[in-house]
Amino acid sequence: MEAVDVLVVGAGPAGSTTAFRLAERGWNVLVLEEHGRVGQPVQCAGLVSQRVIDLAGSTSMVRAVVHGATVFGPGLGSLSFRADEPRAFVIDRAALDVHLSDRAARAGATFRTGARFDRRLSMMDGREVVRVVESDGTVREISARLVVGADGVSSAVARAYRLRRPVEILPAFEAEIPRSPGDPDAVEVFLGRRFAPGLFGWWIPDGTGGARVGLAADADGVSARTYFSHLMNHLARRFGSPFASPTAYIVSGIPIGEVPATHAAHVLLVGDAAAQVKPLSGGGIYTGMRCAEIAAAVAASALERNDLSDRVLAEYDRAWRAEFGEEFRRALYLRRLFTRLSDGDLDALIEVLRSAELRATIVAFGDIDFPTHVVRQLLRESPSLVRLLPKALGAWVGSVSYRVPDLEPGPRRK
Ligand SMILES: Cc1cc2nc3c(=O)[nH]c(=O)nc-3n(C[C@H](O)[C@H](O)[C@H](O)COP(=O)(O)OP(=O)(O)OC[C@H]3O[C@@H](n4cnc5c(N)ncnc54)[C@H](O)[C@@H]3O)c2cc1C
Repeated sequence: MEAVDVLVVGAGPAGSTTAFRLAERGWNVLVLEEHGRVGQPVQCAGLVSQRVIDLAGSTSMVRAVVHGATVFGPGLGSLSFRADEPRAFVIDRAALDVHLSDRAARAGATFRTGARFDRRLSMMDGREVVRVVESDGTVREISARLVVGADGVSSAVARAYRLRRPVEILPAFEAEIPRSPGDPDAVEVFLGRRFAPGLFGWWIPDGTGGARVGLAADADGVSARTYFSHLMNHLARRFGSPFASPTAYIVSGIPIGEVPATHAAHVLLVGDAAAQVKPLSGGGIYTGMRCAEIAAAVAASALERNDLSDRVLAEYDRAWRAEFGEEFRRALYLRRLFTRLSDGDLDALIEVLRSAELRATIVAFGDIDFPTHVVRQLLRESPSLVRLLPKALGAWVGSVSYRVPDLEPGPRRK
């Protein structure tokens, strides 16, 4: 039987980052990827912050720089903002995954594609033994001191180790449009029940003259594809012509919620497998990669001490929640509030936010990785915004027993 120190399941950003950090510390790491090629199929819009570029240590995957955004309400009233400096980057997502796996391989990790983690078999002499099925049907048993589940939204590792799944998985649908009539350095966001109940639709320039158009929605029995058709019909009317046929489609899901535990003895979950996803946007590349770095640091110390017990690995849970727990809790709270807003409420919200002063606040405080910061500031600066919210706020606070996160305003902007 093949034996390794660490078996990482999934060669997405979270898996390859974990593998890199452990391999560079000298541990014997094997990464399994069920698809034949790392990075394929792409299931992502590829909009990221500077922090992702920094964590990746390369700009090679950047295709476009984003300076602004327009948010459309359900009644198509809009709010636009723009910054002189770059506020986000559109990346070639497949290129990011390939870059991260190459970096881990150069550090000494072994990658095996076309190899699927199937299930847990046993625990033997302090090692987890798992069953792996390869694309030609070959079945292998691999033993590892530590198993890292970085296998995405439907994590088989989380299921195998009975680590509970996130409560909500939002269906998502996206298409790549070869020629975009939109602004090449600004994104568009579409709110409302017609386009994307429960989250939003997006239009993201891809840096090659095309665009990624999609949405994630709490579809409630209606397919995300149906909402996608509504969005595309609207856009075709707005731009005055139908679009060239999409060159690719993505159908996937976004995990939103708090997983009670992301570790067990000899096991860690990272990235989407651990629902380390920003609840207000569904973005998970930065949070997944950063949590992977934390996972690798805790894992390295546990391997060193030769103690991979539940108690020792609990440090990972504590550490990543110390960094993101408060932001995620506030964002989940705001998300629940957001999903209670009617289309009329959303239009009124856009109207309030249109004032020039608040636009400046959005530009000054907007951070795609920590979106609750700008919300706190807006609440501080706009009494009319606070007046708009109590209906939904009251419904939410009254319906569940939950500590309302600290959303009072932050420090005043100089
Ligand atoms: C439509 C859409 C658009 C998105 N847009 C953005 C965005 O613009 N910005 C952003 O930050 N985030 C975005 N996200 C979220 C982002 O894609 C994820 O948060 C991110 O990919 C999570 O990385 P990961 O490494 O945890 O998992 P993944 O990237 O999902 O990687 C998991 C890997 O595990 C493999 N795998 C799964 N099961 C097994 C198994 N049993 N055995 C072996 N291998 C397995 C998979 O093939 C995959 O390669 C989007 C998501 C969707 C659905």
